[in-house]
Amino acid sequence: MADVRLVKVSKIFPGGVRAVDNVNLHIKDKEFLVLVGPSGCGKSTTLRMIAGLEEISEGEIYIDDRLVNDVPPKDRDIAMVFQNYALYPHMTVEENLEFGLKLRKVPREERKRRVREAAEILDIVHLLDRKPKALSGGQRQRVAVGRAIVRQPKVFLFDEPLSNLDAKLRVQMRTEISKLHMRLQATMIYVTHDQVEAMTMGDRIVVMKDGIVQQVDDPLSLYDHPCNKFVAGFIGSPPMNFMEGSIVENNGLVFDEGNIRVRIPAKYHTTLKPYANRKVIFGIRPEDIYDLSYGSELPNKEEVSARVEVIEPMGSEIFLYLTTGKTPFVARVEPHVKAQVEEMRKLYFNMDKAHFFDVETEKSILYEEHVREELAEVR
Ligand code: ATP
Repeated sequence: MADVRLVKVSKIFPGGVRAVDNVNLHIKDKEFLVLVGPSGCGKSTTLRMIAGLEEISEGEIYIDDRLVNDVPPKDRDIAMVFQNYALYPHMTVEENLEFGLKLRKVPREERKRRVREAAEILDIVHLLDRKPKALSGGQRQRVAVGRAIVRQPKVFLFDEPLSNLDAKLRVQMRTEISKLHMRLQATMIYVTHDQVEAMTMGDRIVVMKDGIVQQVDDPLSLYDHPCNKFVAGFIGSPPMNFMEGSIVENNGLVFDEGNIRVRIPAKYHTTLKPYANRKVIFGIRPEDIYDLSYGSELPNKEEVSARVEVIEPMGSEIFLYLTTGKTPFVARVEPHVKAQVEEMRKLYFNMDKAHFFDVETEKSILYEEHVREELAEVR
């Protein structure tokens, strides 16, 4: 068992910067939890407080029900993998892997056994006699992970471990760390600014901004039901499109951007009614916009016209950069769509996937409804 609990945890740096603000989190046993957010949002500081490398200004951290606020890092039964690997350059891979165990006075036989086992898991047995400078970036990263594995910790902490690798290797190591998680069945907390890494690796994802947790959810829920405009724009690539406009009553409810008008499905009317004749932010993901030759099966589609500004063929799909005349937006359409720059193009918005945000609070207007529905299902 190894769960980690953060109760009202804050970090205030000298000078008053509130880097982490009142964070409550329960990381479950064997869970892979990803902390994600833009640079400076406080994710590394949160991880470093769990590791014991940073003092906690307010609140409590528990590992397996043991309050660890004042427990030094080496006694927390955790292992951390850093972005810069932090390998000892004068030691061989084997010595690097063994070093932490020597410090802990683990007997020689046991040390050798654990090093061998970790090297086999990570496929670095043939590198054991090399020094770090004779390794590639990916191999160094593996040694850094190996050093954590030999410790057999209760909790693994990863701080942007893949950000020094090139794109291809990053994708490969991503899968390897996911496999490692399955094999070791350990609790892992992983920090990244890369939303794709977060989506593909996490059992659950914590999205942070300005030291504050915005939303904690599994990847698909986060994608389908972001609680606010920030989360909606942060998760997904290209990001969700946003358009400012008003909700007007016209035989039902209509979102009116000025140049385009789309009818809102009846299922959202009760929730959106209080917003009638008020400004809102409408959100729709690029993949929920269809060229007119596709998407005719959609039950709640709305036709719009927009001018094509840029066409980006990606092979498996095309990104169309369009404008309503007022608002730019992106559509991700089928690879065989024949679009022309400057033409007015007809498209469908899949209104079943529409999002609406309050202009002032930027909170999702439909989110609370979704949470209520989920709770009702559980009951
Ligand atoms: P990045 O991805 O850039 O590492 P992050 O989300 O991990 O960002 P943190 O490193 O946790 O962010 O930093 C959060 C905030 O705390 C930032 O505003 C940062 O400038 C500030 N901060 C971090 N360390 C210190 C420090 N030692 N003293 C003062 N402020 C700090």
